[in-house]
Amino acid sequence: MKIAVPKEIKNHEYRVALTPTGARELVARGHRVTVEAGAGEGAGFPDADYRAAGAELEAEVATLWREAELILKVKEPQPEEVARLSAGQTLFTYLHLAAEEALTRGLMESGATCIAYETITDRQGGLPLLAPMSTVAGRMAIQAGAHSLEKAQGGAGILLPGVPGVAPARVAVIGGGVVGENAARMALGLGAEVTVLDKSIPRLETLDDRYQGRMKTVFSTADALDEVVRESDLIVGAVLVPGAAAPKLITRAMLAEMKPGSVLVDVAIDQGGCFETSKPTTHAEPTYVVDEVVHYCVANMPGAVARTSTQALTNATLPFVIALADKGWKRALADDPHFLPGLNVHQGRVTYAAVAEAFGLES
Ligand code: NAD
Repeated sequence: MKIAVPKEIKNHEYRVALTPTGARELVARGHRVTVEAGAGEGAGFPDADYRAAGAELEAEVATLWREAELILKVKEPQPEEVARLSAGQTLFTYLHLAAEEALTRGLMESGATCIAYETITDRQGGLPLLAPMSTVAGRMAIQAGAHSLEKAQGGAGILLPGVPGVAPARVAVIGGGVVGENAARMALGLGAEVTVLDKSIPRLETLDDRYQGRMKTVFSTADALDEVVRESDLIVGAVLVPGAAAPKLITRAMLAEMKPGSVLVDVAIDQGGCFETSKPTTHAEPTYVVDEVVHYCVANMPGAVARTSTQALTNATLPFVIALADKGWKRALADDPHFLPGLNVHQGRVTYAAVAEAFGLES
């Protein structure tokens, strides 16, 4: 199969969808891998490493897309990439369509088969291609939050662990899944006082067991949210309703209850955000202030640690890429009930129910 790996073009996105190690595996199975010149540089993989792995390099992006049967990317296609996509091609990447109507309609018009990393499932009911990036984003959320609490960033001037004689900061994490657990774990490691809210009792039980009461676990209700809004110095938004837009859990009116200089880190921004006042930001300008509350809402947090993220992502995607390349999309999806939910758009139709519902489309 002809497999193309374009260079990512989203602002400050340095990851690449395939490492030279992955290219070598595919070439060894008889596939033709073409990588856009310079695609791996941001993640520390020079063209020479791909060449040594048996991949071809292509400088002309139009040619790369036109000749491909399977296109591997990291972020959702940007408008100029959607325009290059055509019927008969398969796109395998993060899509996050539930919050992106224009992109959804663009992909429908392309006629291509679009498979999303983030809706593929595993036997434990998890999302194995979201998990590695969620781990990175969760860990980064506390780094970003701690930095945003500094005075120069508009924050209250609070050090997360405090110092002897000065109390540590209070950190609340809403959503105790992969992002939430990793954020909570980092915050604990830095010595903050940590509360995790979730709607899932089994999830709260797991966290309570795992951390032996070192973090507070709270069932997520409107009352509980009111309390953490009043008391926290840093709140991380880490909820997920799979394939659907994030619920708005902190409204603009609630910001008035927060302490001046406190910080909201909305990791769920790639699903529309779980705070009413969130809007996507970039690594170039990651924060803004509303009603004296600092907001950090970078939609591609793992892009900032591109090398770690690329390696973590491609470890998880490679088995699925191999299945697509060896068997073709039809058989690869038919053979694996956990791969099948990855299919989001096919031949002009949305095939993932939550996305279709979000835009009133037939699935
Ligand atoms: P997950 O499924 O592991 O965890 C989500 C948790 O949210 C679950 O435990 C669920 O019970 C809980 N939840 C759902 N509704 C809730 C509510 N109303 N109140 C409290 N908890 C609720 O998902 P995850 O992998 O941790 O991802 C979380 C979010 O982070 C997703 O939107 C994901 O797309 C996003 N994400 C963003 C970036 C980024 O760069 N910004 C990177 C990775 C992941």
